[in-house]
Amino acid sequence: MTTTRFAPSPTGYIHVGNLRTALFNYMIARKSGGTFILRIDDTDPERSKQIYVDAIQEDLEWLGLTWDRMERQSERLDRYAEAADQLRANGRFYEAFETPTELDLKRKKQLNMGKPPVYDRAALALSDDQKTALRAERGGHWRFLLNQSRIEWPDGILGDISIDAASVSDPVLIRGDGQVLYTLASVVDDTEMGVTHVVRGSDHVTNTATQIQMIEALGGTVPQFAHHSLLTGPQGEALSKRLGVLALRDLREQGVEPMALLSLMARLGSSDPVEVRSDLQELIDGFELDHFGSAPTKFDEKDLFPLTARVLSAKPLAAVADHIKAAGVPDHLAEQFWTVARENITTTADLAGWWTVLSEGAEPLVADEDAAFVAEALALLPDGPYDAGSWKAWTDAVKAATGRKGKGLFMPLRKALTGRERGPEMADFMALMQARPKAS
Ligand code: GLU
Repeated sequence: MTTTRFAPSPTGYIHVGNLRTALFNYMIARKSGGTFILRIDDTDPERSKQIYVDAIQEDLEWLGLTWDRMERQSERLDRYAEAADQLRANGRFYEAFETPTELDLKRKKQLNMGKPPVYDRAALALSDDQKTALRAERGGHWRFLLNQSRIEWPDGILGDISIDAASVSDPVLIRGDGQVLYTLASVVDDTEMGVTHVVRGSDHVTNTATQIQMIEALGGTVPQFAHHSLLTGPQGEALSKRLGVLALRDLREQGVEPMALLSLMARLGSSDPVEVRSDLQELIDGFELDHFGSAPTKFDEKDLFPLTARVLSAKPLAAVADHIKAAGVPDHLAEQFWTVARENITTTADLAGWWTVLSEGAEPLVADEDAAFVAEALALLPDGPYDAGSWKAWTDAVKAATGRKGKGLFMPLRKALTGRERGPEMADFMALMQARPKAS
């Protein structure tokens, strides 16, 4: 039975980078009829905030990414304490006392000597008396004793990985103030919750190496790991600084449609094309983890808008009725308005603009060379009410009076009635027009 989890730390709003992780894990679970756990990694009491826990749930709900179970690490501290005891009993856990400044100095010395900055395990040589003396001064932190062998795993995206544990510092799992760190909590949870597949960002590759040894030391089963590439901006620039403004709730505010975002993120960075899908199930059916590559994945939020336009244009009236009402359209015209507007909006915010033009009259857009022609045409425009035949009747009359035809006839008239270069079928538009263009 497949079990995956999405494990955000509630220290901020989730962004497109987190979404990639959430979505991959969600799709793996759903594709095989397994379980998807939302795990809140909140062992840091200072930085974890309930507002972010709520926001994470809201954002996932907006996207329709449902979870089967929610877990909070802050409620499982006793489990982590037990695991720590087990590691101590196995001789895989040791107490160290270096301050951050001392550790920093050690690292600098190693780097100066051209050595990798790996913790030197000086704490292993401390006698019991020395430890007692140090403990009186400061809290000791606890490190996991790595076996200095190679750690290997078949990565679901990166292929076979091999990391020399001797090149990695023994990870600190419990801080001097007693706070359990994510690395330990995550291993205990993954083991006890039966997590079978872990997909996360490639910034976790070294973590994975150490966690594999920890899982083995605790007698657990190592899940299948896969590390997706990190997102970059459109020019390949680091996205990390901009992720703050790429929070899912900001994209929602900007009118991005859930299926537009999901359709992009479920395929971006893979060999499969990005196509707008109408529901999550279609994305799940076509999802293949091994189609994803290890190269950084370029993400441009601008791509979300044409996708949003496509998602919107396919929606039935009922799905947008609230937005249409909010734009001021009377109920009896809603259906007709949606026919006119659906292909001509990027987000639902554009609905109001079309209704204003239809209900109050457009500000005509007139090229200098068309000024006389448009004036003559508007003089031939009857007052409303207009209907499905109004456009043909009017353009026939204008054609007869001016001799213009084709694009030279229709384009200036479109711009005069709508105030825009592009838009709906003019016969449909005019049938819904409630007012003459301004100043005509
Ligand atoms: N809380 C961790 C993070 O957000 C989870 C990483 C993991 O998937 O194990 O980076």
